[in-house]
Amino acid sequence: MSEPTSTTPRDFIREMVERDVAAGRHGGRVVTRFPPEPNGYLHIGHAKSICLNFGLAQQFGGTCNLRLDDTNPETEDQEYVDAIQEYVRWLGFDWQNLFYASDYYEQLYDFAEQLVRLGKAYVDSLNEEEIRQYRGTVTEPGRPSPYRDRSVEENLDLLRRMRAGEFPDGAHVLRGRIDLSAANMKLRDPLLYRIRHATHYRRGDAWCIYPMYDFAHPLSDAIEGITHSLCTLEFENNRDIYDWLVDTLPFPDPPRQTEFARLNLTYTIMSKRKLLELVERRLVSGWDDPRMPTLAGLRRRGFTPEAIRDLCDRVGVARANSTVDVTLLEHCQREDLNPKVPRVMCVLRPLRLVIENYPEGQTEELDAPYYPHDVPKEGSRKVPFSRTLFIERDDFAEDPPKGFHRLSPGREVRLRYAYLVRCTSVVKDAAGEIVEVRCTYDPETRGGSAPDGRKVPGTLHWVSAEHSVPVETRLYDRLFRIERPDLAEGGFDEYLNPDSLETLTGSRLEPAAADPALGERLQFERQGYFFHDPIDSKPGSLVFNRIVPLRDSWAAEVKKQAPAPAPQPAEPKKAKETESKAPAPLTPEEREALEQARPQLLPVIQGVIAAHPKEVERYRAGQTGVLGFLVAQVMKKGGKPNPKLVNALLVEALG
Ligand code: ATP
Ligand code: MG
Repeated sequence: MSEPTSTTPRDFIREMVERDVAAGRHGGRVVTRFPPEPNGYLHIGHAKSICLNFGLAQQFGGTCNLRLDDTNPETEDQEYVDAIQEYVRWLGFDWQNLFYASDYYEQLYDFAEQLVRLGKAYVDSLNEEEIRQYRGTVTEPGRPSPYRDRSVEENLDLLRRMRAGEFPDGAHVLRGRIDLSAANMKLRDPLLYRIRHATHYRRGDAWCIYPMYDFAHPLSDAIEGITHSLCTLEFENNRDIYDWLVDTLPFPDPPRQTEFARLNLTYTIMSKRKLLELVERRLVSGWDDPRMPTLAGLRRRGFTPEAIRDLCDRVGVARANSTVDVTLLEHCQREDLNPKVPRVMCVLRPLRLVIENYPEGQTEELDAPYYPHDVPKEGSRKVPFSRTLFIERDDFAEDPPKGFHRLSPGREVRLRYAYLVRCTSVVKDAAGEIVEVRCTYDPETRGGSAPDGRKVPGTLHWVSAEHSVPVETRLYDRLFRIERPDLAEGGFDEYLNPDSLETLTGSRLEPAAADPALGERLQFERQGYFFHDPIDSKPGSLVFNRIVPLRDSWAAEVKKQAPAPAPQPAEPKKAKETESKAPAPLTPEEREALEQARPQLLPVIQGVIAAHPKEVERYRAGQTGVLGFLVAQVMKKGGKPNPKLVNALLVEALG
């Protein structure tokens, strides 16, 4: 068992498991599983479940199985099975056992016959629509199907003939005989088996009846001796069926289901069905499109497993659904890369800069460290300097707006690691576009400081025109324009962000950084963290994906451009809810402070939420006024947190 450290997350599930182990429940064993259905690629929401299930097994010296929950022949595929394994490993976990629900079909079928013999299941011959009508409503109890009282013999006979393929799809189903008046509609004789004449990717045509999730999942858990079956909140009502099954059939030590909140991220969607639609309609380039929230997409973009695990730890495991700001993921990624990667210079959108008083044909090499002072790593390279350079197009303004700290006519700036240069004139093309900036340099300022101590407004990155290497850079933005595309009903086309990918084919990289041996990830100074695209980047034609910019420019950009308000999701009620709960917008600095404060504040906030269920309920019912009370409770716990940040975190945690 690994010793809990100060970074071991604490949450209600870990506490429950700890109590179970201490009480000797399940013989003190901890057996979990991660049970994806192989009908799509894993997304970052799955990462939360993976970290939780595998993390628990590690923490308590237990076992975690990878189980492919493959009971739907129409949607599943070996490609997905392979990808699931690949990405669980990539995230840094390994399984003790690899299991497939489709290997349990024989056992599951035997359980079905056992239930029939116990009088606990029957074959129903109503059609789907009739079954729905007979089930009743929340206010009316269900009515028994005319087939509910078939004899055990007749049920067994029909079930065997269903299996033998005597009936077409939909002719019959197997249902549990539970309780037609149960308040929980799920208990009103749930479907356990259906007929599907379809070829399964592993079992071929061996079966033409397939178990439903509600039947296969609990029993697969029981077969594997799972102790703690963890799933997301939407399965809360299914828990009664779960318990009914594992308690009705003779399992000596049945598993128990516990639900936790799904991970949702702003500006993206987390449903495999919708992600599949993006892929199939070619709205993205594939499951590994760097804008996708899939682990494949995140890896291709350059995100690291460390950052994704860190995000899952920081978000924690709670019972309240919430949507995590995607800037938190970006923050985790910066924290991970900041102490690791070399800083180099790359000009994304080059503008030619000619130094009039620097001799033609002359070159010198300037020393430049790869790491800043606060990163305890060594290393430096030589950067070639010459008469013709490139600077960033954005770093020059002929008519600078107020507060512009970069280059403009008459003004002097520092070229990083090099000299101070002063702009003397510009050259324009026939269309009036600036094609070249002319400067003079001060030879006394080598290294970047003036002997007379004079100050300049800014420092620019640059590359030497003849020495730099042309590269392609790909800049990514949010896939959707609205914060909660998951709430938008209907097609999501109108919410896709048309500017989510910008490809720059003419970027220029300093020569030392073109050597892939320097690292697959680099910081381009002032531009962000970049990753050699693992598929398209080749020696001689390098392609870099921007993983994240250096600061959270998003909030600032939105404010600056003040565009027409983003369209609200079509579903009016939910859209209104999100609106009324939206915190006052945070400045970029506040956002950064929020991410810093989150690890300390979140447990306090979760404690307050747990301690005040009535207020939380009132808040969720729309009485947002109680927020002030909850903020005050958090403030009382001490530590002098900033109330605005507490407010924002509370709103987020309350979902
Ligand atoms: P989706 O709704 O995206 O299709 P799913 O729940 O249908 O996901 P599964 O393959 O059944 O996908 O999920 C495997 C496991 O991952 C389940 O235990 C599920 O509860 C969990 N899981 C899925 N999505 C999330 C999420 N967003 N956050 C946390 N856990 C998740
Ligand atoms: Mg599902």
